[in-house]
Amino acid sequence: MKVNDVELVISAVRPEQYPEDRLPEFALAGRSNVGKSSFINKMIGRKSMARISSKPGKTQTLNFYKIEETLFFVDVPGYGFAKVSKKEREAWGRMIETYITSREELQAVVMIVDLRHPPTNDDIMMYDFLKHHDLPCIIIATKADKIPKGKWQKHLKVTKETLDLEKEDQIVLFSSETGLGKDEAWNAIKRFM
Ligand code: GDP
Repeated sequence: MKVNDVELVISAVRPEQYPEDRLPEFALAGRSNVGKSSFINKMIGRKSMARISSKPGKTQTLNFYKIEETLFFVDVPGYGFAKVSKKEREAWGRMIETYITSREELQAVVMIVDLRHPPTNDDIMMYDFLKHHDLPCIIIATKADKIPKGKWQKHLKVTKETLDLEKEDQIVLFSSETGLGKDEAWNAIKRFM
């Protein structure tokens, strides 16, 4: 998909603030620093639209990006940041859980993992949490450019096995550096629209 029109509609913390457009929504989740902002920016063809909102000390918000007036990317603050306090983690958990469990517009969660390493315990917990709530997932295994092509399949296999990926959940090899997987990721998203 060629994206021309993107608008950050709102940075929300409470359901009353969610947009009322009734467009399909796709939540973007991932460990801090995994490459989530880079993924979003690559998908929408912008250099720096997705803000660095996941760093400690910054307000943790759900950022609703309206794309081509047809769908929303909902950028969820990154998880697994060691320096975040217990109180902040709990607030994050409540915000995500409220959105994930109550939002009718939510079609699927796009979960970003690092192809180079097996998914972490935080990744596994996130995936299990999403599956517990019966949410379809699209797994983006990013930073593929950092691994030789000959090892991609082996790393994909480790990613699938470590997450215990369900059959219906698609996994997409991706690189924000080269654009590898961009069309496949858009196609995976469009399947839910
Ligand atoms: P976020 O915290 O998950 O939003 O992560 P960022 O998108 O800010 O990326 C974290 C770091 O990884 C940055 O230095 C990016 O340039 C780098 N990065 C992200 N995606 C890729 C990728 O596909 N390939 C390479 N080589 N580096 C990447």
